[in-house]
Amino acid sequence: MRHLPAIVIGAGPAGLTAGIYLRRNGVDAMVIGKRPPLHHFTIDNYFGFPEPVRGAELLERGRRQLERFGAELVEDLVLGYEREAGRHVVYTASERFSADCLIVATGAPKRKDPGIPGLERFEGKGVSYCAICDAYTFKGAKVAVVGAGDYAAKEAMVLARLSESVTVVSHSGAFTMSDEMREALENSGVRLVEGRVEKVKGRFFAEGLVLEDGGEIEAEGVFIAVGEPQGSELGLKMGLKRTPEGYIVTDPATGATSTDGIFAAGDCTGGLRQIAVAVGQGAIAGVSASTSVIQREAR
Ligand SMILES: Cc1cc2nc3c(=O)[nH]c(=O)nc-3n(C[C@H](O)[C@H](O)[C@H](O)COP(=O)(O)OP(=O)(O)OC[C@H]3O[C@@H](n4cnc5c(N)ncnc54)[C@H](O)[C@@H]3O)c2cc1C
Repeated sequence: MRHLPAIVIGAGPAGLTAGIYLRRNGVDAMVIGKRPPLHHFTIDNYFGFPEPVRGAELLERGRRQLERFGAELVEDLVLGYEREAGRHVVYTASERFSADCLIVATGAPKRKDPGIPGLERFEGKGVSYCAICDAYTFKGAKVAVVGAGDYAAKEAMVLARLSESVTVVSHSGAFTMSDEMREALENSGVRLVEGRVEKVKGRFFAEGLVLEDGGEIEAEGVFIAVGEPQGSELGLKMGLKRTPEGYIVTDPATGATSTDGIFAAGDCTGGLRQIAVAVGQGAIAGVSASTSVIQREAR
């Protein structure tokens, strides 16, 4: 079994940044992960890019930067974790690696599937999963949010500031959001409709929703916010302390988790899920893990 001072699990913005900081501090590190969902989208709000940049290009630049500093990138997934003789052991389908330090940067797993046939056809063409990311694209337009709980309500509040109108469709019978959230939505002029979505209508781009009861809602932007995003499964396997939603709990100043020698960064820790945040947290975790390795080696 190969041993490294540090292994980063995840090759998105957080993991790649953590790897860059480890290597620049002279710590031998490996990054394990596959191309994240970001690969397929265009980014309009990341610092230093005056024009929209493809996620694929941003990631490719990060990978090249990581490789320039000599880190190894393993295109695979970690399937399990064990503790062996004080070391952290992770394994993929074909290999086992041990490390003194781990950084978990596995991103936010897919949200609950809303079960709307043909939804994928409109992804990036009106259908979005992130109001903070895409609200600006629909400035002055009519938008709809699909979801019944507080998560859907929060997405609708973000949209209400920029859109001409916002309609929230429960998609599951009654709304489950808190009374405070419901009141805040109503005060912001957001319309609430109880009903199940049958399909997204539109030719090339989304034009609205068709409900099972035959009703229709006009919307250029359709934001899916069903259930709650779930946190990191790997964090569960590692026995890390997690929030009720399953996100890994960290010390924001260091990225340290509840287990000595394991740090976490990016979307798997919850909070504002944006590239800028993931990059910042990746830097913090990379520096903390470097310090931990350097102190260990000095003993
Ligand atoms: C549709 C969409 C649009 C978005 N638009 C924007 C935007 O406009 N602006 C913006 O700032 N942000 C946007 N975001 C959010 C942004 O993509 C994320 O905040 C950011 O990518 C988080 O980075 P991360 O490194 O934490 O996780 P991710 O980018 O999700 O990367 C996770 C990494 O972990 C790896 N991984 C997962 N499980 C394992 C495992 N078991 N073993 C090994 N590796 C594993 C994955 O392969 C991947 O490499 C968008 C997100 C989506 C989904």
